[in-house]
Amino acid sequence: MQLDHIAIVVENINTALEVYHHALGLPLDRVEDVPAESVKVAFLPLGDGSEIELLQPTAPDTGVSKFLAKRGEGIHHLCVEVDDIEQAMADFAAKGLRIIEDTPRVGSHGQKYVFVHPKSTHGVLIELYEKPADE
Ligand code: ZN
Repeated sequence: MQLDHIAIVVENINTALEVYHHALGLPLDRVEDVPAESVKVAFLPLGDGSEIELLQPTAPDTGVSKFLAKRGEGIHHLCVEVDDIEQAMADFAAKGLRIIEDTPRVGSHGQKYVFVHPKSTHGVLIELYEKPADE
């Protein structure tokens, strides 16, 4: 299991990049609009294969915009890579973790992901992520 990314929800990605890119000096790989999730995302690689993702909600009434309204800016979730997401879901559920979805969501590049409820992880939303087969 390896850390894939840490997602931080922000009000404004450009203002946040002043800190994470310009002040802290993390390289900026790209900024992407992800309409399927109603977020704009800045990807800042950390050099070890993991990255920081800055998430700016682009629509009201989504999970991320509600999180921002309720809790303010800050860490939204951690994402760990697993080899086999269905296996990981079964293993973690058997150990008492609460997986939010019954089946993994599939992203635009064929990647699979699912979230573990923060109530079962001491307050942190955890994303499980299986890379697409061709990467
Ligand atoms: Zn994520």
